[in-house]
Order: sequence, then C-alpha cells, then structure tokens
Amino acid sequence: MRIVLDPDLCQGHGVCQSEADGIFVLERKATTVTVLDGTPPEDRRPEVEAAVRYCPTHALSIVEED
Ligand code: SF4
Repeated sequence: MRIVLDPDLCQGHGVCQSEADGIFVLERKATTVTVLDGTPPEDRRPEVEAAVRYCPTHALSIVEED
C-alpha cells in the first residue's frame, strides 16, 4: 500500500496523526501534514484506513501496489 497526500487539500487538521501516529506527523506551525512513512507495513493498515476515512478534507488516499 502506498499513501497519497494531496497537499492542496490538506488543511493541517492533524486527524491523520491522531489515527496513525508515526506515519503522519504535523510539525509545529505546519499547515500541511508530513507523511513519514508513505509505504507502511500491512499491520498498520487499519490505522491508515482510519486516517483516510476521517480526514475532513479527503486529502488522503491509498494506492495498492503489488
Ligand atoms: S487529517 Fe487530512 S487535512 Fe488533516 S492533516 Fe491529515 S491529511 Fe491533512
């Protein structure tokens, strides 16, 4: 799985960091989240899917890779 962030949509709410800490991090004063691990291991999938689902601006998506 690969995480895709649309920086134009991200408004820095930080919901993704709450759902999947360590994969997403919102630096102090940043307005756009940083994806620390764009290809996280499968055991983090539930957290990443929650981050995608609950992002208020739909800035996140998952692309499946072989
Ligand atoms: S929850 Fe969405 S809008 Fe908020 S920081 Fe994460 S990607 Fe950006």
